[in-house]
Amino acid sequence: MDTLPPFKTGKPRVEQGYVRPLVGIELPFTIIEGGMPGPCLVVTAGVHASEFCSIEAAVRLQRTRPEDINGTLVVLPIMNVQGFWKRSIYVMPEDGKNLNRQFPGDADGTASQRLAHWLTSAVLSKADFYLDLHGGDLDAARAAFPDAPLPWVDLSTGINAVPFPPPELPPHAWTVTDFRALNEYMTGVIAKSR
Ligand SMILES: [Zn+2]
Repeated sequence: MDTLPPFKTGKPRVEQGYVRPLVGIELPFTIIEGGMPGPCLVVTAGVHASEFCSIEAAVRLQRTRPEDINGTLVVLPIMNVQGFWKRSIYVMPEDGKNLNRQFPGDADGTASQRLAHWLTSAVLSKADFYLDLHGGDLDAARAAFPDAPLPWVDLSTGINAVPFPPPELPPHAWTVTDFRALNEYMTGVIAKSR
């Protein structure tokens, strides 16, 4: 399919599949719709395709059950698929650009610019909240951030987070290690924001 299924149908469901936003690019997705109306949260990971911890977190988030949420949770666990297979650091192999720097995108641009445009116009435009997961990349090193503190809790979420592997990586490389807490937090966001 070229477009994602509807986010809100009024019936609890889990829908999984692949969407092809661009020729040659096929992204896995999961849509989890709860039993009661509510906002829509989109979660992406793998914009940076070798930040594996965040990709794993998104994969696990796909196990969220409809009966545990209100509203809709949309998970796109790997945005830069070719980069994932090629272990590309930061950039999309198709055009050598950092997808994370292309938003809101360009419908007539290069692959990463068109993918950013698709996400912005076809997905995020239908969402109430958006969370883009990142984590320590393959070349991340604390040496480049000598003044970086290393707190053990992510204050923005209250989720226990630890440097990975401690203490070599900068704060932006924290990884969520408590996936149950992450899952509960995300479902709680949807439930409480009604
Ligand atoms: Zn990143």
